[in-house]
Amino acid sequence: MAYSVFRILKEGLTGNKGWKPAWRDPDPKPHYDVIVIGGGGHGLSTAYYLSNKFGITNVAVLEKGYLGSGNVGRNTTIIRSNYLLPGNEPFYELSLQLWEGLEQDFNYNAMVSQRGVLNLCHSDAQRDAFARRGNAMHMAGADAALLDQDGVREMCPFLDFDNARFPIKGGLLQKRGGSVRHDAVAWGYARGADRCGVDIIQNCEVTGFIMENGVCKGVETSKGQIRANKIASCAAGSSSRVMSMAGLRLPIESHVLQAFVSEGLKPVIPGVITFGAGHFYISQSDKGGLVFGGDIDGYNTYAQRGNLPVVEDVCEGGMALMPMIGRARMVRMWGGVMDMSMDGSPFIDKTPVEGLYFNGGWCYGGFKATPASGYCYAHLLATDEPHPVATEFRLDRYRRGHMIDEKGAGAQPNLH
Ligand SMILES: Cc1cc2nc3c(=O)[nH]c(=O)nc-3n(C[C@H](O)[C@H](O)[C@H](O)COP(=O)(O)OP(=O)(O)OC[C@H]3O[C@@H](n4cnc5c(N)ncnc54)[C@H](O)[C@@H]3O)c2cc1C
Repeated sequence: MAYSVFRILKEGLTGNKGWKPAWRDPDPKPHYDVIVIGGGGHGLSTAYYLSNKFGITNVAVLEKGYLGSGNVGRNTTIIRSNYLLPGNEPFYELSLQLWEGLEQDFNYNAMVSQRGVLNLCHSDAQRDAFARRGNAMHMAGADAALLDQDGVREMCPFLDFDNARFPIKGGLLQKRGGSVRHDAVAWGYARGADRCGVDIIQNCEVTGFIMENGVCKGVETSKGQIRANKIASCAAGSSSRVMSMAGLRLPIESHVLQAFVSEGLKPVIPGVITFGAGHFYISQSDKGGLVFGGDIDGYNTYAQRGNLPVVEDVCEGGMALMPMIGRARMVRMWGGVMDMSMDGSPFIDKTPVEGLYFNGGWCYGGFKATPASGYCYAHLLATDEPHPVATEFRLDRYRRGHMIDEKGAGAQPNLH
């Protein structure tokens, strides 16, 4: 069913009785061309582009829970392409371009809102680093503007400029960055893939792999055996657990990351703002809630719940930047399990097991990557060649010494 203003009018006048479920609820077939493990943003976008752009429609997405129960429905919804390194920037810029056309592409309102992402700097050295990053962004065709203190003051007069522990010197602004309604992204991709014939199977946990002569031929699931020519893992925070069932050990650790929402307030935050002297980022949802987050909890876990020390740390960051936030009540918080890689960058690659492919290691930043990740993964699955903007996201990059360490933090997954 196509969505349009005429359809809304017609349904409004006829009691809204004609709407149908946005996707089917099929039983699994015994065999598919491609099985995607994980019905998060990346799994669903992979299935969508496989079917819609690469013509491979005999595809199943197997999700152990319900769509949107993982990180795709738990993140702070920020999209941007303000990266420095050549392995990253063209990929994230492609992603931002795909976001810009996404709603027309899959005919679904994902509330893509390009209201700007402002990274604040608090020292001369940080400003120099931002100038360098902005230049790298320009070279990859992205937009970037370096603001001085007056420029930041004009945009965000509520920040603490005068008595701040970390004085604000300026900021790097990407106007095309912003936010997107996260669960609508999952629903839009699910509906788009379903319309192309993809089977989306919820409550279907992958519990093992079918191996024949060292080749992966399918998966064992809570709904029985399902075979496929290619199996594509997209399990985000559960990546290590899923791939260990195929005997693979990944350079990934899982950590919990929390998000927080305040009571609804009148519009105050113009876009996304990130603190440069601590880990704190904030935006305001269309409903008025301040949506913010900070660092991961520092311990390994697969549990989707956080801990109080990080709550305190995030709130301290908010208070240091904009003391007025102390008057808002926090009403909701939750956690999601992050697949933190050793250098902070992701993987889209074949594995050493024939027939088995891997997408993961997205750390804090996988939501903004959702369209390009799905597109590039679909490209790899369809052609067995990496997409030109994802050539660096290989599993053997540490062995080759080609790390993509955007933060320069070294082999410390908890620091990326
Ligand atoms: C609090 C928080 C804030 C964040 N903020 C941002 C942000 O502002 N911007 C940004 O770019 N990124 C952000 N991220 C990161 C981003 O959300 C993730 O990197 C991204 O969503 C991961 O990809 P996904 O959507 O496919 O993951 P998920 O939605 O987690 O999808 C993986 C799916 O695999 C399923 N699965 C796991 N094991 C199995 C199995 N055995 N069988 C079948 N299915 C299985 C899971 O149930 C899950 O649904 C944030 C994350 C969190 C938690």
